[in-house]
Amino acid sequence: MMEKVIGIDLGTFNSCVAVGEGGTPVVIANRGGYKVTPSMVAITEAGKRLVGHIAKRQAVTNAENTVYAAKRLIGRKFRSPQVEAVMGNVPYRIVEGPHEDVRIQIRDKVHSVPEISSMLLQEMKAVAEDYLGHAVDKAVVTVPAYFNDGQRQATRDAGAIAGLDVIRIINEPTAAALAYGFGKNIDRRVAVYDLGGGTFDISLMEVSSQGVFKVISTSGDTMLGGEDFDQRIIDWLVEGFKSEHDIDLRQDRMALQRLKDAAEKAKCELSMVTETEVNLPFIISSARSEALHLQRQFTRSQLELITADLVERTIAICAQTLEDAGLEKEEIEDIILVGGMTRMPSVQRAVAKFYGREPCKGVHPDEVVALGAAIQGAALLDDGAEMILLDVTPHTLGIMVHGGTFEEVIPQNSTVPTSRSKVFTTVRDGQTTVKILIMQGEHERGRENVLLGEFQLTGLRSAAAGVVEVEVTFDINADGIVSVQAKDLDTGKEQSITVTASSDLTKDEIDIMVDDAQSHAIARREDEELQVARQEVETLLADIAKLFPKVEEMVAGSDFGRDAIDKARTVVDRAKGLMTTGDTQVLREQIEGLARTQRMFKGVVGRVG
Ligand code: AMP
Repeated sequence: MMEKVIGIDLGTFNSCVAVGEGGTPVVIANRGGYKVTPSMVAITEAGKRLVGHIAKRQAVTNAENTVYAAKRLIGRKFRSPQVEAVMGNVPYRIVEGPHEDVRIQIRDKVHSVPEISSMLLQEMKAVAEDYLGHAVDKAVVTVPAYFNDGQRQATRDAGAIAGLDVIRIINEPTAAALAYGFGKNIDRRVAVYDLGGGTFDISLMEVSSQGVFKVISTSGDTMLGGEDFDQRIIDWLVEGFKSEHDIDLRQDRMALQRLKDAAEKAKCELSMVTETEVNLPFIISSARSEALHLQRQFTRSQLELITADLVERTIAICAQTLEDAGLEKEEIEDIILVGGMTRMPSVQRAVAKFYGREPCKGVHPDEVVALGAAIQGAALLDDGAEMILLDVTPHTLGIMVHGGTFEEVIPQNSTVPTSRSKVFTTVRDGQTTVKILIMQGEHERGRENVLLGEFQLTGLRSAAAGVVEVEVTFDINADGIVSVQAKDLDTGKEQSITVTASSDLTKDEIDIMVDDAQSHAIARREDEELQVARQEVETLLADIAKLFPKVEEMVAGSDFGRDAIDKARTVVDRAKGLMTTGDTQVLREQIEGLARTQRMFKGVVGRVG
């Protein structure tokens, strides 16, 4: 059995898994035939865990216990504006965790965000295992180029909880460029425009025939995506309904959920057709308890009008990124579209107009990232592979020094892996320790940036007050994970930390979650076996029911025949009564009995007929 590394695009709204097969990456469809799986997790009243399409299907009736867009929360602190923004927008409960982190309450249990993501990863792992027919334990997982260290580490934790060894984390645009350049033997400078359900990313890259894929520059907006387009449609529908009936549909959670689904559906339809109808019967009752319906015609031009500024925002970021990279539009030789939202005609038009060329067709915007991850996975397994990925750090890294100013050590968009040192002088105050705060961000006031970690450089000479010279070295490895070392140039004393040791989850917490995930994986398999057995009982029952009248007609004349028929009826009745059992073994016994009856019936019919 060949070892395989799967590539997983763990998206805000949809996830996708691919694997290298005989040198070519393929996207794997789940049992339902879908190549993308909604990034949704729900727990039913009976305590059953649902992931993907089945979770999405029940979201309207179980909104409070259905989690989506967890990617917007991963690796973030509870008290952050981003988390606050998400809290105001989702029906599920977000609570503060023990490490100032974010937790999600579903029914009576509180889950960490990596745990929720791990349920999605487990599902993608299971989809791949079903297809390959053997266990998979290694994966390359993609993250937005913009993800900071904490978000990357939390994604890695999610992999660990799911029982997956995440052998590499790569940026989504890099993965897209890999899939685009795969086997093409080209040298080109390309833009990867990625507008997904929750985030927008734009990356400029160099794709080379030597197998080197280099990110020149990357930027984006983590709070701009398809959901914002949906929200515009919802607002438009709600306002229309309000002016007609004087009722605010936003007050009704169920109505809002139905509006959300209808808005997204209409948006997607308008990528294909120029007009559609939004039709939501019995959306709410009037003050006089009459059932009210929402029905409106919606055109592509209306949609384009109410979302024009969102598209424009992405274009402004494209312009800024070009400027940051010191490039002209004409120097971009191809544009790769990624993310479901790039199917929207006005998005394609705006991109084409801005760059002055048509975006490249032929790479599937929903699948291209997973394919790239699978290509990278296969390359990592194969020692001989020549592919080298060169990513850049999405944020400036540095330390906060005396007076709260932020001092840069590694500038934004530096190629990783990298290592850089800088000497700082700091005031000693006669103390023997210096505190070093490691930060990520572009703001000159340290406080405005993200604190990655801190440590004390101890044992400085305690002589008279004066200045201490400290050499700080930052290392970033291929996964984008940072470690920092500080050295007192006076005494030669060194201290270092790996910043990612400060993940939001402790080792013990992760261990508990891993156990929990494993027992769920077992439960899932058992549940599947139960479903298969139940299905088989049903098929046999249907088959026997079809044969029954014929058999009865043929043998009812003899005592022996009547006896056999009675017996068969008992077998059938017992099996019917046990259909709802949760015990697979009991069902298997029924299958045996039914199969005997079926054989006997077929024998009778066959002999006579
Ligand atoms: P992604 O995060 O890449 O899976 O993209 C999901 C987003 O793309 C969601 O907001 C979808 O509503 C949107 N989307 C998917 N298909 C289409 C389509 N045909 N037209 C417009 N938007 C779409």
